Amino acid sequence: MVLSRLTLIFILYFLSVSSATNPPPPDAAVCIVGAGIGGSSLAHFLRLYSTPDVDFHIRIFERNGVVGGRTATKIVSVANSVLMVLRYGFSLLKMNTFVQETVGNFLKYYESHESRPIFESVEEMLKWAGLYNLTTTTLGFKLADIGLSPLLINELVTVITRINYGQSVAISGLAGAVSLAGSDEGLWSIEGGNWQMASGLINHSNVALHLHEEIESISFVERYYELNSTKGKSYKCDIAVVATPLDEVKIQFTPQVSIPKRSLQHTYATFIRGLLNPEYFGLDSVSKIPELVGTIEHPDLSFSSISVLKQYDEKDMAYKVFSRKPMSDELLDSIFSLRKETIQINWGAYPHYKAPEVFAPFILDDRHLYYVNAFENAASTMETSAVAAENIARLILSRFFGQPPFSSSRSESNSDEGTLRVD
Ligand SMILES: Cc1cc2nc3c(=O)[nH]c(=O)nc-3n(C[C@H](O)[C@H](O)[C@H](O)COP(=O)(O)OP(=O)(O)OC[C@H]3O[C@@H](n4cnc5c(N)ncnc54)[C@H](O)[C@@H]3O)c2cc1C
Repeated sequence: MVLSRLTLIFILYFLSVSSATNPPPPDAAVCIVGAGIGGSSLAHFLRLYSTPDVDFHIRIFERNGVVGGRTATKIVSVANSVLMVLRYGFSLLKMNTFVQETVGNFLKYYESHESRPIFESVEEMLKWAGLYNLTTTTLGFKLADIGLSPLLINELVTVITRINYGQSVAISGLAGAVSLAGSDEGLWSIEGGNWQMASGLINHSNVALHLHEEIESISFVERYYELNSTKGKSYKCDIAVVATPLDEVKIQFTPQVSIPKRSLQHTYATFIRGLLNPEYFGLDSVSKIPELVGTIEHPDLSFSSISVLKQYDEKDMAYKVFSRKPMSDELLDSIFSLRKETIQINWGAYPHYKAPEVFAPFILDDRHLYYVNAFENAASTMETSAVAAENIARLILSRFFGQPPFSSSRSESNSDEGTLRVD
């Protein structure tokens, strides 16, 4: 899991200016389902932007025993090299220009929140930044249209989209541009794990965190949302926010909500301690196998990437294999000459992207039921989750309290929140 420098600046800046000193009695109860980067960022931005005359009691429900959600992983970036320039020539330059332009548009979300609109839908949010059109066409088509060579599209670009999203260049142009941006240099991760970002945001946001508590149903009863959990408990909330993809989560909504069907791309991450078999790669020694092996689209290729996680000594390494299907023992035994330990994780990792994309609403009913991960059909990263959560926070403040979007009256004082609160 890597973060762009901007994600870090964005979140560290807001952490440094946020506060939650002795809040007055709560005016409203906000319940957030999911303690990933989306849910934790939402809590943070609600605290950051709310004026002293409004206050929230915020609960975050997390079915797991830890916060951070899908941030508990790490990928390797693909840096440019002289060899690549020789192979792909000017096409590489065109690709970089495309990525830089898209990133430039995305940076509009970092403009001051005083001048930035609050968006009621994903489409509106993307159109404002000039990103919407990229969701109506595939990456492959877009890159061919701007003159990239088929060689570059079918090799390097495909390798990158397979590593980052487990998918081909048939993903949308926007998800593809984000994927390409995420393979560049200048990416960051937090030592000890990126989950610490979610935990830091929660720590600074005066939140009642309910770990090991899965929400089974959300019902609108009279004036409130009633959330029922697997612990047999029931919570009344004025505002309910879903901060997890709804595609494979079984939350019962009453009345029912309507969102477009979306399937998730499953990525199997297989962690292996042992040694790769050079013969499988047509090489005569392990040392000749690169630290990151990416693959193109080919029916005979059974994995998307293999990367070295750690080298204990010359004959003892830790690797991570990404694949679209589970890796059988037989297959692993042909790729590895030695396997001491094997762990396989099946991730419902990110949306299965297509073009044109169809987006779920940010507001799931006509009241105060919100969905942060509607934005994930644009792209799935920590940064996009945080940016979507920031918009939802402002949407809640303006729709529930009629608060203008430009208030940040708390931004000058310091936080006195220290430890993670667990109910
Ligand atoms: C293999 C892989 C590699 C990735 N690499 C990168 C990368 O390098 N850089 C990058 O920026 N992004 C990367 N991503 C994407 C990034 O991890 C996600 O986009 C981001 O973490 C999503 O955050 P989220 O908070 O929206 O959702 P999640 O992280 O999925 O958080 C949702 C949380 O809700 C909880 N939950 C679900 N249902 C319930 C329920 N009913 N009740 C209570 N709790 C519930 C879940 O347990 C989870 O903790 C990667 C993703 C994967 C899977």
